[in-house]
Formats: sequence, C-alpha cells, structure tokens
Amino acid sequence: MVGHKKLLTWDKLRRRNFQGPSICHNCFKNEETLQHLLDTCPIANQLWEKVGFRCQKRCKGPGDIIDTIRQWPKIPYDCAILNYMWNIIPGTVLWNIWKERNRRIFKNQSSPIEEIWGRLHGNLRETMLLKSQTKEDLPTTDNEKNILDNWKLELPQEYATHQTMKCNIKEVRNWIAPPTNSYKLNFDGASKGNPRPAGFGGIIRDHNGTPLQIYFGNIGWDTNNSTELEGLWQGLLVAKRLNLQPLIVEGDSQIIINMATRIQNGSQARKVAGSWRLEARLNNIAHELRNHRALSFHHTRREGNKIADFLANIGVESNQPFQAGNLDIIPSNQQTQECENLLQRDTESPDAGAGTSQGVEPHAQHVPPHANING
Ligand SMILES: [Zn+2]
Repeated sequence: MVGHKKLLTWDKLRRRNFQGPSICHNCFKNEETLQHLLDTCPIANQLWEKVGFRCQKRCKGPGDIIDTIRQWPKIPYDCAILNYMWNIIPGTVLWNIWKERNRRIFKNQSSPIEEIWGRLHGNLRETMLLKSQTKEDLPTTDNEKNILDNWKLELPQEYATHQTMKCNIKEVRNWIAPPTNSYKLNFDGASKGNPRPAGFGGIIRDHNGTPLQIYFGNIGWDTNNSTELEGLWQGLLVAKRLNLQPLIVEGDSQIIINMATRIQNGSQARKVAGSWRLEARLNNIAHELRNHRALSFHHTRREGNKIADFLANIGVESNQPFQAGNLDIIPSNQQTQECENLLQRDTESPDAGAGTSQGVEPHAQHVPPHANING
C-alpha cells in the first residue's frame, strides 16, 4: 500500500477536504508528508535505526521511503529464518509508525519510543511464531546466529541455536493481538486448592482483539496441571470446530507450554507426562495437534492471560462440564461486565499492537504487520 503512495497522510486528507492539522503529530516539527512521517521524522528514523542495528544491515537507502521499500533486498542472509524476518520488517515498522500517529491524533495518547519499539518487537515476534521452521532454516554462521540472538524474539525451543536464545524479553508483558488473519487462543486452569474443585476456561480472539468464542467448564477434583491441560485441549477443539487457523496458543504455565511443545514435536505422552492422568490428557492433545498444522505454542505472563484466568474461575463455580459460545454464556451480568472490561483493557494496552483500530480512525486502509508491501 505504501508502495503505491496510498497512505492517508494529512496532506492527502486535506486535498480530500478533511479538516485537521498539517503538522506531524509524531514530532510536532514538520509538515506531515508520507516521506516525513515514515522516513525522516525522528520516531521513524529511530525505529529504522534500531532495526538496522539489530539486523546489522542498513535499512534505508539514499532515496525516499518509497524507493527503500521497493528496493528492499529479498534474501540478504544465508539463513531462511533471518530472511523471513527481514521481509516482514518494512511492513511492521511502517505499521507501528502509522499506529502511533493515529493514536496521537485520534486518541490523544502518545508513547515514548521504547514503548513503540516494544510494540514493533511484539508484532515481529508474533508473526515469527507463526512460521514453522526446520533445522535447515537455522543460522549456521556465528554472525547470523548473533543477529538472531540479538533480536531476543523468545522463539520456541526448536528455533534455539544456542543457550542465549532462551533469555526472556521484558518488553512485552500484556496481551498482544495476533497478526492479521490469524487467531489467538488463551487458556487457563484454576482450582481452589490442589487438588480441589477445578475448572478451566479460555478465549479465542482475532487480530482486532474481538472475541470469537469463549469457553469454560468444571471438571470436579483435579490438579493444577491436569486442569490446565483440559483447558488447552478444549480450546483446541473449539478452534477446530470454527476452523480458526493459523492459531497462536498462549498459556501462563511454562510447564504446560513446554509439555505441549514437546508433544507437538513428536515426543510420546508417556515420556512427557508425570502421571497417568496427565498422560491421558496429553494423548488427547497429541491427537488434536494432528489436525492443527499452523499452530504455535507460547508462554505468556499472567498479565497477558487475564481473561482466560477469569473464565477458568467461572469454570470452577460452574455446575457444567463444558460450555462455549459468546459472552452471553457468562452466568451473571456483573461477570459479563467484568469480562468486557478485561477485553477492553487488553485491546487498549500499549502492547496490544495491531489490535486497536475500532471506529475512531477514519481510515479503512491499514498496513498490517506482514502485508506484502512490495506488491
Ligand atoms: Zn514528524
């Protein structure tokens, strides 16, 4: 889209008789033109610099931003993962500049550069998580290994080239919307004591943060891990029923995410599980995973999993083994309201990324993070 100069900056909007400032809201120093906003403006410039530094490549050429995008090298690295990342960078950078600009103009909110960078980094990681990789795609030279490490993308184990890949990033804490045309499942288990009456719950949302389905249920007395696995399995079934792919699956239990990842990579449930109960649940999950090709697991912190936790607690109180549907299935009005508040908070959180455009912005066209901007 940017390649065709269609981005609606104010100088274009004014030609269409929009009333508004012509000043760039990302710096309040220059007129907002396409070239300024996406290239020379300090925010744009810093983002391009940061990306270039981590990639160890110059991102911007001598020409204007349109040339930069048109001439973006397709395969500058030897390694497929880095090339994949490199090719989603322009869309991700432009998208985040554009989002910040809209947030400032239409919501009167502005973020410091670190926060914008955090969102950009989060979008990039989310898109990377959807790309399944084989060993052959990994970097082989020390230089390329270091580049991937420096990005601290916290990719699943199978990406890991060496130990340093496993360090956690601190930039992303809250819920992040999945990339355009993909979905995110958050699941959780809850029990009052361990083992005690237990319930599970979860939610699937699209890239706007719109809930497509919620579910919860009570499974009687059970342990934490067993309950979490039930929550995960039921979520996979819901996603299959609605044919929601590609799917990012997030839970706040590192143990469960590790188990699921090992199962996905072909380990036997018997070897992964510590008990017969977990083994049975892992076998269910293994069976489901055969139907989900475009799926990735990843661990989130509790802040990013609040709604699933909330629904799991409804599950504990529920007298039914399973319920799924829209927000109407939540038993009380007060709880429905609480859930709506949590949903709102997730889509408005600074890390929400691509998922915050609703109604306020008069632009139908956006640059999604992985748009084919060369097209
Ligand atoms: Zn500016």
